[in-house]
Amino acid sequence: MTSSARVSVSWANLIYAQSGFTLPMTIEGIASTAAEALHGDYDVIIIGAGPAGLAAGIYAKRAGLDCVILEKGIPGGQVITSPNIENYPGFPEISGMKLMETMAEHARRYVEVREGEEVLRIKGGDKFDITTASGRYTSRAIILATGSSHRKLGVPGEEGMTGKGVSYCATCDGFFYKGKEVIVVGGGNTALTDALYLHSIGCKVSIVHRRDSFRADKHLQESVSEKGIPLLMDTVVEEIVEGEEVTAVRLRNLKTGATTTKPLDGVFVAVGELPSSQLASELDLELDPGGFVIVDKSYRTSVPFVYAAGDVSGGIRQIVAAVHGGAAAALSCFEDLMNPYYRR
Ligand code: NAP
Repeated sequence: MTSSARVSVSWANLIYAQSGFTLPMTIEGIASTAAEALHGDYDVIIIGAGPAGLAAGIYAKRAGLDCVILEKGIPGGQVITSPNIENYPGFPEISGMKLMETMAEHARRYVEVREGEEVLRIKGGDKFDITTASGRYTSRAIILATGSSHRKLGVPGEEGMTGKGVSYCATCDGFFYKGKEVIVVGGGNTALTDALYLHSIGCKVSIVHRRDSFRADKHLQESVSEKGIPLLMDTVVEEIVEGEEVTAVRLRNLKTGATTTKPLDGVFVAVGELPSSQLASELDLELDPGGFVIVDKSYRTSVPFVYAAGDVSGGIRQIVAAVHGGAAAALSCFEDLMNPYYRR
């Protein structure tokens, strides 16, 4: 069904372009018809194929629910940008990419994962009506596993220099900075893991952190200290100097007030995450002040038949926690579809 709708749009374009005749229906009209195409009606639709969404898919399908996972990009979520994971049980040391490839392969044994299928809108009603760029889906329940996105520093030069020396992903871009001078900004697990990764591939990396202590795990702090990675504590980036490429940042020491210009080639920003809760807002789900979806211990949200798990629901943002949340959300969904909790 999907493919026939897509084919008719491209055929229409082709015929129109070659003939010069006016089509009885406009290209836009045909495209919107295609966009209205119903791709499927499911018990539950899972949005997002990070660890929470993939675990939810496995558990939902094994419980006998008809479901599909819609993923706007490729499966894996933010974890694929993590160079090294050492705290996911069963995998003493594995790259984020490898772990998520393994998890996605496992999930696909049970559930279809539709990649590049971004959900644009969701409407409630007797059934949930979900619109993506390519069509529509309906379902009795929804599990939101939409994750989070990188928080920005919000300083001059950051936006303009993104992709020209400012990066939010050490694993993706670190390779280009071998032998070069870079900083990682942040003091959490991501910042220290990224700094260790960049150091290991031969970058001259320093860490810039706004306080005098890190919130990152102790063992990461010990590794950073063992490797002799320079630390610029109580320091913030005030500006990333704009040009063809990044050549320098302006730093300010918050204790002394002194500002310095540090010449460098790359800035890796690792200052936390913001929940991807736009769809949650559309569904009128209750959010906390940080924008994370509020869930109960069974991962039910404030709206019946809507569940949320993983980073979008806050809590400890760990892979094990996301996997737990996804599994629990799927089982709650199963219980509710069989025997709605609010009727018990
Ligand atoms: P995070 O723990 O929220 O840390 C963000 C860091 O950025 C903090 O040090 C914070 O400083 C700093 N920061 C925030 N806004 C800033 C700003 N505007 N300017 C300068 N600095 C700013 O975020 P994360 O490190 O990305 O980790 C997110 C979650 O993923 C955490 O739960 C973490 O444990 C988890 N994670 C786990 C692993 C692992 O276990 N392998 C790896 C990566 C991430 P303050 O400390 O002063 O607030």
